Amino acid sequence: MHRRITGQLVIATHNPGKLAEMRELLAPHGVEAISAGELGLGEPDETGDSFAANARIKAIAAAKAAQLPAFADDSGLVVDALDGAPGILSARWAGANKDFAAAMAQIERLLQERGATQPARRKAHFVSALCVAWPDDHVEQVEARVDGTLVWPPRGTAGFGYDPAFLPDGHSRTFGEMTSIEKHGLPPLGMGLSHRAKAFVKLAEICLD
Ligand code: IMP
Repeated sequence: MHRRITGQLVIATHNPGKLAEMRELLAPHGVEAISAGELGLGEPDETGDSFAANARIKAIAAAKAAQLPAFADDSGLVVDALDGAPGILSARWAGANKDFAAAMAQIERLLQERGATQPARRKAHFVSALCVAWPDDHVEQVEARVDGTLVWPPRGTAGFGYDPAFLPDGHSRTFGEMTSIEKHGLPPLGMGLSHRAKAFVKLAEICLD
């Protein structure tokens, strides 16, 4: 049985951008989002071997600490020709300085080494794993992906992370060339294109009124 989210929900992130995005998405459903930062909760080590496992670790830790239902997400870029790298290490590939230009250049170097110059050899997808955990250990998990091709050089200055290198299938502009509404927005404003938007729609179907 799926469990509905009502009342307060802890958002297990210390990232203000993710918090703002979640507040916006949850407000129409009558759910009040409280940040883990506001509650002074720590961040557990992400020791899982999948996006889903890491989202679950973060959600369970926050639910136990706050004694409230808690939401966490984990996401990243999976490149087929690199055997799935950077994957769950997507944030770490940018280093302590969060240098995503360097991380994109590193991916490009590796693709060139493997002779992956044609679009068909440059397939990649973003994954978003979402988890809501309750203090009694009940969890709800969903996952979604958006498929595309990596372009070089990166294009556009919008978005964050690997957006400028990612051309979603069926589109002629990279995520870095799209507005946030185009990339993340849910209908009727956007197309629900991104991995996070798709995962949120799945979560809303099973957990939100
Ligand atoms: P985490 O989910 O906070 O662990 O971060 C995952 C990392 O994946 C981010 O730092 C970005 O590098 C990358 N990533 C996840 N989603 C996106 C996206 O929508 N655009 C660009 N990069 C992303």
